Amino acid sequence: MKKFYLLFVLTPSLILSQTEFSQEKANDLLKVLSIEIGPRPMGSPAEQKALQFAVRKFKESGCDTSYIVPFDRSSRANTTSGIAVGVKRGATKRIIIVGGHIDSAGPEVPGADDDGSGSAVVMELARVFGKRSMQSTLVFTCFGGEEQGLEGSRYFANHFENIDSVALMLQIDMANGLEIIDVDGDTYGRSAPPWLVRAAFEEFYRLGYEHLRYPTHAFVLNYAFGRGAGSDHESFLDKGIPALDFSTDVNKPIHTPQDNFGNFDPRGLQRSGDVVLNLVERFDSGVPDKELSNYWLYVIGKNPIFVPYWTIKMFVGIAFICTIVAFITARKRRLVPRDIRWSGIRMMLFTFVIVLLAWISSDIVGVIKGFRYPWMSELPLYFLLAFLFGVLGVWLMLRVALKLPLSRCPYVFYKRASIILILYTLLFAWASIKLALYPAGSLLLLSLAMLSRNTVAKIIFILLSPLLMVRLIFNEWIGFIFHSGSGGATIISFSQNLMINGVLILFFTLYMYPLTLGFAAVYRDGNSPRALFAAFRSRWGGIVVSALIITMIVYLYPREVYSNLWYRNVTVEETYEPEQDSSRQTRKSSVSLRSNEYLDGVRASRENGDTLLTGRITDARIPLITGDSTTHGALSPLVRIDRTETLIKTGDTTDYKSTIILQSRTRPYSVSIMYTSKGKELNFSSEKMFSTARSAKTLRWYSFPDTVLTVPVQFQIVGSDSVRESVEVVFSMLTHPMHFDREKTNFFLRTIFYESKVYRP
Ligand SMILES: [Zn+2]
Repeated sequence: MKKFYLLFVLTPSLILSQTEFSQEKANDLLKVLSIEIGPRPMGSPAEQKALQFAVRKFKESGCDTSYIVPFDRSSRANTTSGIAVGVKRGATKRIIIVGGHIDSAGPEVPGADDDGSGSAVVMELARVFGKRSMQSTLVFTCFGGEEQGLEGSRYFANHFENIDSVALMLQIDMANGLEIIDVDGDTYGRSAPPWLVRAAFEEFYRLGYEHLRYPTHAFVLNYAFGRGAGSDHESFLDKGIPALDFSTDVNKPIHTPQDNFGNFDPRGLQRSGDVVLNLVERFDSGVPDKELSNYWLYVIGKNPIFVPYWTIKMFVGIAFICTIVAFITARKRRLVPRDIRWSGIRMMLFTFVIVLLAWISSDIVGVIKGFRYPWMSELPLYFLLAFLFGVLGVWLMLRVALKLPLSRCPYVFYKRASIILILYTLLFAWASIKLALYPAGSLLLLSLAMLSRNTVAKIIFILLSPLLMVRLIFNEWIGFIFHSGSGGATIISFSQNLMINGVLILFFTLYMYPLTLGFAAVYRDGNSPRALFAAFRSRWGGIVVSALIITMIVYLYPREVYSNLWYRNVTVEETYEPEQDSSRQTRKSSVSLRSNEYLDGVRASRENGDTLLTGRITDARIPLITGDSTTHGALSPLVRIDRTETLIKTGDTTDYKSTIILQSRTRPYSVSIMYTSKGKELNFSSEKMFSTARSAKTLRWYSFPDTVLTVPVQFQIVGSDSVRESVEVVFSMLTHPMHFDREKTNFFLRTIFYESKVYRP
């Protein structure tokens, strides 16, 4: 009896603990994915292993069916990837999909946060729901190839036979820590229904969690011009299915080797798991409707506010009407005849100098510190520095304006500002009406500043006028944009860097130009606090700003540039090209290094000695000395290419059928075979996926699991043309025993093999 009683008491609590999302269990799954299996780029054997692991977990969870849906081509390359699927049948055929992506961004990226964590949450949720009986059929999915352009989810959405029964899709892409978590219900041109976004906010706060965010400005920009950064929920929104993604802070070091288990905070697993669990329960018995929507979404406190498109259009209309009225009144007050010419051009020059100063502020600190990207781990402080430099630029230009005077007539400036802002509004609206909101907002505030006769109101309006437009660029994802653009994962040469910066400075000059014109217009419109202005323009104004800047630089100087989250990247490349007259493959006599940061302090060690790189260089070559083991390449070729060819001549056309058999000693990371003809468009076909760019046809394999590749191709040569076949095989390692090291530095090792052949008629 006692025993029975105990059992009676224990059973419900046992069931309870069995059915609740367990952070520890999810964390154990993540450990397997990110440490045991490791980096899982699309097409890699590791990705396959992870998919199999997920299927095994789905089976153990009590899913009725678990399987891998394989796919062998992405939109750009041939591959071997797939989707792990676990189906838990419910009382009805209505389906709720819970997904994450199992691939990582590269062969050096463990992808703990992005998105081992999401996949771990999916597997753990499968365990939680595996024991329950549900109304809806639950489909758990771990997608491959997300990082290469949502390949897995797109394939799944296009091929899943019950796709029409899917009522809801919930994606977890990054579940790291308890800080910011973004809710994303958008894709290009459409958004999740408001009931779904509202439910996400309600469930999230009901659970007592904090920091749910909808990054309004980042998403407006991200989804304005087609596909930006996003996740697998987009593939379902594109099919008209209500879908939502939860992603923790993208400003964390995702897509870098620092996205590892050590840098991961597992508390996010619990939070994302709990929220998705509650949403699945909430919509288990059905969803209100399946209509997707369009809106500009802004969150005030804990409440999402949905602004429909007609409201934005009305707002733009009001801005235009205000502008017309302000325009007419300003025109009435204009000075006739015009006093000083070229004011518009001068203002543009002033804007350019201000932008230039703000832009190069970090480079100035970089030069002093000996770094190209001194802001890597202290980005917000460098934004503050850029702002101070901008203020210094304003002061300088006000001084210059004493020598290069500007018109006294407000109309001169307002006319230009309003026309340009109207143009920007129309241009932005052409891409997306949500985008038009930003210049229209600036236009409205500027026009109100011109119309207002009250000094305080005038100042408030004009000070607020740039905010929306600046916020659009310096949005919630600015850290991600800066890090991935300049130093996170990509390596840009010095000249490319110079060009990109030049283009960006010109872009910002044009972007800010109507706003600085607006300031000039309002200043000239009288009633401005001229005493304050005169004080700022004085020598003392410059001294104060300069002192602030110097203090800031002195403060920034000793602060660390690279941290446990942000590393320098160095790519080490070894190249092989076959000798002209023999089949022996030889390596060029050096190994080359390229970096986004100076190579100073990099040590290369090998059997017969070390090389220490010094100085502010971004590329270098390490010469190979005789005695370095160069021969094993010849003994067992790195890559061996055999071809079987047949050709048929008819008139002046030659039809080639060629099968290329490519064998490599170890598994390549990527392979590309390109066919180019000197003449016109090449008549080309292959059962493998290929892309066309100008007259070139390129077959690509992205991290495939085999070491033998058989490629049948067919093409036609017209007249005396010839066709060149260029093979490039990339390995994510060096064939030469060499070791590189420097603190807080990632080394990406690549061996590249080239070969080419010319086919003649
Ligand atoms: Zn991701």
